Amino acid sequence: MYPFAKKLKLPSNGLSYEAFVELKTITNAFLFGLEDAEFQTNTAEIKATLLKPYLSIDPFEMWYADLLFVWEYVMSSVFAQTEVTKKEICKICKELNEVSVANESLDIVYLENSQEVLNFKIPYNDKELVVYYRRRKTMDNVQSSNDNLELQEALNDPTNYMKFFARLMYPQVVKIQFDSNSIGKPTEKELFDIFVYSQDKIEIINQFYDHLLKNSDFGIINNFNYVCKKCNHHNLFQFFDPITDSFFIKGSKPEKINMHYLGFIKEGFITFSELMNLPVIMNKEFFESCSKILEKESELASGGVDYRKFHGLG
Ligand SMILES: [Zn+2]
Repeated sequence: MYPFAKKLKLPSNGLSYEAFVELKTITNAFLFGLEDAEFQTNTAEIKATLLKPYLSIDPFEMWYADLLFVWEYVMSSVFAQTEVTKKEICKICKELNEVSVANESLDIVYLENSQEVLNFKIPYNDKELVVYYRRRKTMDNVQSSNDNLELQEALNDPTNYMKFFARLMYPQVVKIQFDSNSIGKPTEKELFDIFVYSQDKIEIINQFYDHLLKNSDFGIINNFNYVCKKCNHHNLFQFFDPITDSFFIKGSKPEKINMHYLGFIKEGFITFSELMNLPVIMNKEFFESCSKILEKESELASGGVDYRKFHGLG
């Protein structure tokens, strides 16, 4: 299928392991795995599991931005996929748009900054909060989402919601500082308390989310825009999404799971398009339940998005 092993330069550029990974000859087993994936786990884990036999570096230990890069490389060079496509819903008129970017025009940023620990500062009640953190690894996506399973099923409770985010981001937090007083690495409970006792909970979670999960300083350049075919609005979106890739999705109790995804949309953490691009939405039971709930959610359904059409089912 792909005759020669190849060395790929990784975007992390030697940050915490070799700058090059050896990609072995991809065999039919990979393809069967791809077709077989039952999506009873998250997207990050599927990608890492399928690639693991072919890489000289364990993909679970990789920076997630590196794994996404290798994944796209395999898809484009081995499977001759020439473009990345995604379904996106216009934020203004709710029209369904098929957007695509040619693989050859995807830009890769190779890391220049060799610092392993980064930080950001935000006002916190009357203090200044400084958060030291590291970038996200594949393992973080897998572990935090497995641990979060029971929380994901009860996320309409705001307390669980904050617990969920604390757990999702906890592995990346290295140190917390208030004004100049360091509390070192917080416990997961302490991180949760930082969210809970903030006067502006959503803003605090959003800041953590943007720095730790959403933005990466290396890898495939991931900020795109498209012009809506119906209303000409310029929409921003990301092709590759570490956060939805880390959601653990379980087949049972689809109503509950759907409710919490809708919560994510309302809080602005994911877009409706990102929800509909989750692989599990193809699960018929999940899809039916999602449609029912969305019909009741007037604000989301008001644009008349046709969920069946979205997945070519109707
Ligand atoms: Zn539009």
